Amino acid sequence: MKKNIIIINSIILIVLISLTITALSLYNLRTAGIKSAIHNAESISEVVKSGLTSHMINNNMDKVGTFINSVSDIKNIEELWLVRSPLINEQFGDKDRNIPRDKLDKEVLRTGKIAYEIDESITNTSVRVTIPYNAVAEKGINCLNCHNVKQGSTLGAVSLVLDISVLKEIGIKSLYIISFLILITIILFLIFSKKILNPYFSLYNNFRINMEDASKGTYNKIGLPSGLSKEMINITDDYNNLMVVFKETVEDIEKKLQGFIGHQISDKNQNPLAASKDIISNLSDLYQFKKQVELDNSKEEIYNRISQIFLNKFNIKNFTFIEIDTLKQKMQKIQEVGNSFHCSKIMNDRPEKCRAARTKNDIISIDFHNSCPYFENKEKSYYCMNIDIAKNLQLIINFVCDSKEELESLKNKIVFIKSYLAEAAPSLEVKLLMIALQDSAFRDGLTGLYNRKFFEEHSKKLIPQIVRENSNIGVLMLDMDHFKAVNDEYGHDIGDKVLKELSSILMNTVRESDVVIRYGGEEFIILLVGVKTEEDALFVANKIGKRVRENEIDVYAGNKLKKTVSLGLSMFPKDSSSFDSVVKNADIALYEAKNSGRDKVVRFEEEHVSSVDLF
Ligand code: GH3
Ligand code: MG
Ligand code: MG
Repeated sequence: MKKNIIIINSIILIVLISLTITALSLYNLRTAGIKSAIHNAESISEVVKSGLTSHMINNNMDKVGTFINSVSDIKNIEELWLVRSPLINEQFGDKDRNIPRDKLDKEVLRTGKIAYEIDESITNTSVRVTIPYNAVAEKGINCLNCHNVKQGSTLGAVSLVLDISVLKEIGIKSLYIISFLILITIILFLIFSKKILNPYFSLYNNFRINMEDASKGTYNKIGLPSGLSKEMINITDDYNNLMVVFKETVEDIEKKLQGFIGHQISDKNQNPLAASKDIISNLSDLYQFKKQVELDNSKEEIYNRISQIFLNKFNIKNFTFIEIDTLKQKMQKIQEVGNSFHCSKIMNDRPEKCRAARTKNDIISIDFHNSCPYFENKEKSYYCMNIDIAKNLQLIINFVCDSKEELESLKNKIVFIKSYLAEAAPSLEVKLLMIALQDSAFRDGLTGLYNRKFFEEHSKKLIPQIVRENSNIGVLMLDMDHFKAVNDEYGHDIGDKVLKELSSILMNTVRESDVVIRYGGEEFIILLVGVKTEEDALFVANKIGKRVRENEIDVYAGNKLKKTVSLGLSMFPKDSSSFDSVVKNADIALYEAKNSGRDKVVRFEEEHVSSVDLF
């Protein structure tokens, strides 16, 4: 509300009220003036009536003119005349005397009732009154004595024109006085409004500006204009105290929330309350996410959940999860969303080339595309970050952007993204530990190879799959020749070393898809999964035999030891549709190899069964 508008409205109100009062006063003055004029006219007519009657009784009618003239001289009487009724003319003749002058005279003679008219002009106001003389028959005066008429008949009338201009003058004077008073009131109002209202107006303005600032997130105190009432000062002080508390609280909330989520308000003009609301909403989402991740069953489910967050919450379309096993020195792509994987294959076996993993810093192509020379798409931008999930496992998230703008937008989201990853990391670690635990139950402690338990579990899943695929497995049963002698001659530690070296020869000779199992002691099973022919299987078996034969083992200072192995081969499902039988067959073939001189591969044959008395 503008100060001037209030003042103008107030002045208009004062003028309107004053004008209404003036108009009412003038109307009352006029009504009272007219009433008083009629009253005067009636009095004068009574005087005239009495005068006429006494002239009549005293037979002095020739002096009536003088009498009327003297009455006419009374102040404010402009004109006065008598009117004769036709009834008098009928009785006394002399028709042309005192004839009615106007329609008011005629009307009064006809009706016998007083009548008047107001004649107003700019300069003059007058009342024209005609008062009837009606015949009365009373004790003192009995008109019927002289007049040959009925009682109540109109005998005549007296007409007057009374000047009441003086009333108008009074009215005009009143108007002047009232106008003057209005002017004085307005001047006083302006003076006082300036003195009294100004502080309130400026306080109102201060409040308005303060409220506007507050709605934008700036909480200030209000300046106190001088001249305010005590109550207003108290109210303003209370408001200011409230603002201080409000400001401190909001800043405190904002600081604490920022600490929670690591969020920094980038826009300094942002309303801290709105920012806090955003942060709380993000915290709530984050909390929900953490709860969900904790309930997830596997590492894959967690990666899927993070993917959904990236896609749906952060609107990121191209990214890849990559795991680096620092123990095995292996990099493995876990999940690729969109067309995003552009890392060089070199890194698969040389994960130390990954700059994000090595430096554990975020690597961004925004400053220098070649930050990572192993990102092989020059058209696209990248953002790589490292998260240490477990002691020997790093998670690299590689975001790929089509444009610099997309990368900038991603950079702004990174703090939030990292808070999600920080929540997911402990759950991922738990899942990895569980995997490791499960894995350790299936592995042999000395050689790191799968154990017999794994063989039994794995066979249950593997065999139906091989049958479904119409594929083959070459089952090799392997036993080191005269191993006992190693223990006896060099001791158990060297015996263990020999077993470890044999394990790595086995692992390095077969394909990654093949399965090497330490079946017990110095006995191993090798499953050649998907091997096409038994010739291929024999080829692998002989290769193993050859490599073991040629391998020299350091036993102690300068002394080398060479060992041999015997192998038995049986084919699944060629030799039997029962996998257990095939395993037994391989064992029979191994027995045959041992019996026939060791250091050889023997393909199982049915005849072997009868010559072996093992089962
Ligand atoms: P053959 O040529 O008939 O197979 O003779 P061998 O001496 O290899 O056969 P044998 O079964 O008589 O001996 C196996 C030995 O392997 C007996 C056992 O002490 C030894 N052994 C089993 N497990 C381990 C192990 O984990 N470490 C070491 N050092 N020796 C083991
Ligand atoms: Mg043995
Ligand atoms: Mg042996």
